Amino acid sequence: MTVESLATELSLWSEICKSVESFAGKKAKRILQQLSTLPVKPSRATRRLGSCSSKNGVPVCLRLQFEQEPENLKQTLLHEIAHVCDQLTVPGGLKTRPSHGPQWQAWAQALGTSTKSCGHSEALNQLHRKRLKLVAVCQRCGAEFRRVRRLNRCRDYYHTACGGSLRQI
Ligand SMILES: [Zn+2]
Ligand SMILES: [Zn+2]
Repeated sequence: MTVESLATELSLWSEICKSVESFAGKKAKRILQQLSTLPVKPSRATRRLGSCSSKNGVPVCLRLQFEQEPENLKQTLLHEIAHVCDQLTVPGGLKTRPSHGPQWQAWAQALGTSTKSCGHSEALNQLHRKRLKLVAVCQRCGAEFRRVRRLNRCRDYYHTACGGSLRQI
């Protein structure tokens, strides 16, 4: 799957092309070329809706969590595309800039998605809650701790609220 094939499936591709063309002028052709072939991979993360991986300032793939609601998925794709466009228009400068800074926000706005840096998905929150396992119990007060991953078996943990030591399950 590529950004173009997914965006086409979600009926977003022609809108994206129009937005990039009007926002980036002569740079638009190159940006759209790189966007269209950029791979999209499914993510299993339950705390992030999507992410953009890059190498030496060049985007290499997008990861999207496909369990989120369809409308959310569209917004997440546009959010990540804004990161790609941002990186492609300021080569090499990414390390020194905030990832959701003014340049990214300008792109997000041009693409018609929210300029807030994180989206929420109730479907994903539910999936996250389902994945939580009981990992430890406080031996003093009985409080229970749930996490996606187990705690480190080689370490001792204490309950900050009561000072009791935690027994790992
Ligand atoms: Zn972001
Ligand atoms: Zn406790």
